[in-house]
Amino acid sequence: MSTGTQEDGRTRDTGRGEDDGRAAGAERAARRDAAVRAAVAQGLLGPGSPLVALLDVTGVRESAAGLRDAFAAVTPAGTPVLHAFAVKATPLVPVLRLLHAEGIGAEVASPGELALARAAGVPPERTVLDSPAKTPAELREALALGIAVNADNPQELARIDALAAGSPPGSGGLRSPVGIRVNPQVGGGTIEALSTATATSKFGVALRDEGAREWVVRAYLDRPWLTRLHTHTGSQGIALPLMARGVAETYALAEEINRRAGRQQVDTVDIGGGLPVDFTSDAVEPTYARYARLLKETVPGLLDGRYGLVTEFGRSLLAKHGTVVTRVEYAKSAGGRAVAVTHAGVQVATRTVYAPAAWPLRIAAYDAAGRPKTGPAVTQDVAGPACFAGDLLARGIPLPLLEQDDHVAVLDTGAYAFAHHYGYNSLPRPAVHGFTADRADGTGEGVSFALVRPAQTTGELVAESGGAHADALLP
Ligand SMILES: *Cc1c(COP(=O)(O)O)cnc(C)c1O
Repeated sequence: MSTGTQEDGRTRDTGRGEDDGRAAGAERAARRDAAVRAAVAQGLLGPGSPLVALLDVTGVRESAAGLRDAFAAVTPAGTPVLHAFAVKATPLVPVLRLLHAEGIGAEVASPGELALARAAGVPPERTVLDSPAKTPAELREALALGIAVNADNPQELARIDALAAGSPPGSGGLRSPVGIRVNPQVGGGTIEALSTATATSKFGVALRDEGAREWVVRAYLDRPWLTRLHTHTGSQGIALPLMARGVAETYALAEEINRRAGRQQVDTVDIGGGLPVDFTSDAVEPTYARYARLLKETVPGLLDGRYGLVTEFGRSLLAKHGTVVTRVEYAKSAGGRAVAVTHAGVQVATRTVYAPAAWPLRIAAYDAAGRPKTGPAVTQDVAGPACFAGDLLARGIPLPLLEQDDHVAVLDTGAYAFAHHYGYNSLPRPAVHGFTADRADGTGEGVSFALVRPAQTTGELVAESGGAHADALLP
C-alpha cells in the first residue's frame, strides 16, 4: 500500500475542537490585521500596487495539523491515511510544498495540476489523479509514474486495461493503485453546480442506475489489480450527514466486493473532500474533528484499521487563510448610495461577483495606514475595477464609511478565489505573499512576507494575448 502511515495514532488528538475553534479564529483575525498593517507599511500595497493577496502560513499549518489529528483520533495506530490536498482549490506551487512539508499530498485533476504537484516535490505515492476527462497520454504518464488513478467510467477503465496489458512482461504490471469513482447518488446540497452525487451528476459510475452496481463488482472481480474505491459527494453546500451517507454507501460497496472476491481486494477507500467552510465568521465550523467523529459513528467499519484511507480536502484547508487587500481608489456616491471603487472585483472573486447569493464574502475596512477602520456603520457598496455594473464584491453592507486611499480586505479568499484569476478587462493577476507574524499586536511589526507568486506584468499580459503574433490576421 502506497499511502503514508500516520505516526502514533489516537494519542495525537489535541482536542482542538469546536470550543477553541473560536479562539483560533480570533487569533487568525489578529494575524490578518497585523499583516494588512505591515503590507501597507512595507509597501506591498501602495498607489502603484493597489491589489495584493496575503496567505497566513501559520493558519495553513494549523489546518493541516487539525486534519491529520482528526483522522488519527478515529483510526487505529498504523492505519495508512493519505490526505491529498485538492490542488484545484489553491494551485500555487509554494502552497503545495508547504502542505507537503505538513504531511499533506496532492489530488490532481489535469496535466497542469499534476505538473504543479511535481514542481512542488510531491512524490507520486502521495499524489492521486482524478480528472474526469483523462486523455490516453495523461493516463500513460500517471501509470508510468506510479500515481494513484481513479477511473471515472467504463471507457476510461478500458483504456487502463489496454495500458496494463501493454506493460512489459516482468514489470509487475501496473505500479499505480487504481480504483473506480462511484457516484452514490445520495443527492445534492444547496449549490447545484457543486453537488457531485445527484442522480445525473457527470462524475463517476452512477451506482443506482440499472445494472451499474453489478457492473462495478464484476469489474473488480475481473481485475485483481483494482484495489481502491473512490467517491466525492460534493463541495460547499453539502451537509455533513449527506457526505457521511455518501461515504457509507461507498464503504458498503467495498465490503460487497471484498465478500464476493473472498479477500480484501479493496484495501483503500478514497472518501473525497468537500468539508464546507463558514464564510460568515472567523470560526472554523464544521471542524475536521467533528466530521471524523461523524464518520466514526456512521461507518465504524471503514475506520477500524482494515482499510487505508485517502481524503481530498481543498477549500476547508485554505479558504480561511487567504485575504485579498486593495486600496480604495475613489469613494463616490450614486443615488444616495456610497460606493467605494477598489481594485478587487470579478478577477479575484469571480464566483462572488456572478453568484453573490451563493458565494457571499466578508469585507473588512482598514484606513489609509492599514489599521482597522472605526466609525459609525454606513450602508455602502464595495465595487471592483471591471467595466460592468455587476462588478461588486458587496452590495449595501454596513461598514465605516470608506474614503479615498483607505483599504478593503476581502476575507476567506484563500481557496477558489485569488488563485483563480479571471482575465476580464485584462486585469493582471495580483501578487500573492505568504506571511508569518511574531506578534499580532496591531503595530504590524514582526510580520514577515515571502513572495509566493509575483503580480502579472503588463508585458506578460501582452505576450499571453498574442503579442508575438500581432500580424497573424493580416493578409
Ligand atoms: C473539488 C474536488 C475536491 C475538493 O473539494 P473541496 O470542496 O475543495 O474540499 C476533492 N475531490 C474531488 C474529486 C474534487 O473534484
